[in-house]
Amino acid sequence: MAETKHHKVIIIGSGAAGLTAALYTSRANLDPLVIQGIQPGGQLTITTEVENFPGFPQGIQGPELMDNMHKQAEKFGTKFLYGTVTKINMKKRPFELEVEGKNLTCDALIVASGATARWLNIESEQKLMGHGVSACATCDGFFFKDREIVVIGGGDSAMEEATFLTKFASKVTVVHRRDELRASPIMQEKAFKNPKIDFLWNKQVVEVLGEPDTGVKGVRMKDTATGEESTLECQGVFLAIGHVPNTEIFKGQLDMDDKGYLITEGKTTKTNIPGVFAAGDVQDTIYRQAITAAGSGCMSALNVQDYLEEMEFAEAKEFEEA
Ligand code: NAP
Repeated sequence: MAETKHHKVIIIGSGAAGLTAALYTSRANLDPLVIQGIQPGGQLTITTEVENFPGFPQGIQGPELMDNMHKQAEKFGTKFLYGTVTKINMKKRPFELEVEGKNLTCDALIVASGATARWLNIESEQKLMGHGVSACATCDGFFFKDREIVVIGGGDSAMEEATFLTKFASKVTVVHRRDELRASPIMQEKAFKNPKIDFLWNKQVVEVLGEPDTGVKGVRMKDTATGEESTLECQGVFLAIGHVPNTEIFKGQLDMDDKGYLITEGKTTKTNIPGVFAAGDVQDTIYRQAITAAGSGCMSALNVQDYLEEMEFAEAKEFEEA
């Protein structure tokens, strides 16, 4: 049987929330272990320039910001484990986790597993994924030099991806299902001003045209106001339609809302299980910014400190009374 390793604190996720929680818990001498997940550094590692993280007046590249956070947490003793949690039991004390064959236990747990890109979930999109369909402009934009690209979505991510993709593409068309954007005014303005970006309003993409061996040829769309169908030629399709929280593994143990976001208690990061805390995008349905994720990571670390102190105090009292 594989050996079981115990940690005071385990942090699931290595994005802005997880790494900030790691920084604070390591500085509190709680020797945290961060389980990094399949995308170490989280969503910021696939963004370009981050202009709104305080302290960087010239902006900073997302991967560099996350690398700095990783180094800062490591400096104070945080340990890292590459992999994803394959099994978890929060009903037992200490909590039990399995990370790809390795058995771990911990006294307190911070869930900062973040969220991943949402897909349209249409057959043609799945078929052409990696053959012209992508959800990561920074990863795949380079392959679309002098090509025409469609970006689907109307939020900040769509504006950011569309703007970034104009570095490579000859033309970018943002296809949005409504007639107004959800993106912040500054991001909208940047995109509207870009001569390479066009907008198509009230259009839902219903099919991506093309075959895996020849690539994407275009999109078929339905007008959300009139129901009329149309097609648009393009060689690349980028999805930027939001995210879904990574909470599948916690189902049946942690309370979540109807979209799968973890529910936390009042102004704390406490979940329904004492000793389990949630931080970052996995529990945030409103703000979802790098800085708010980092802030809630800090809160979760302070909540963990209080929890462990109370636990030690209760154990000492029990010992005295025995
Ligand atoms: P979002 O704000 O949730 O926007 C998702 C967009 O996709 C919306 O316009 C939505 O349309 C559309 N959409 C959703 N499902 C769709 C579907 N099935 N078919 C077609 N369109 C669909 O997500 P986001 O843009 O990823 O941003 C998430 C958070 O990160 C936000 O808080 C944002 O401010 C933040 N963010 C910030 C920055 C930055 O400041 N630099 C950059 C990126 C993201 P509707 O509008 O009709 O709902």
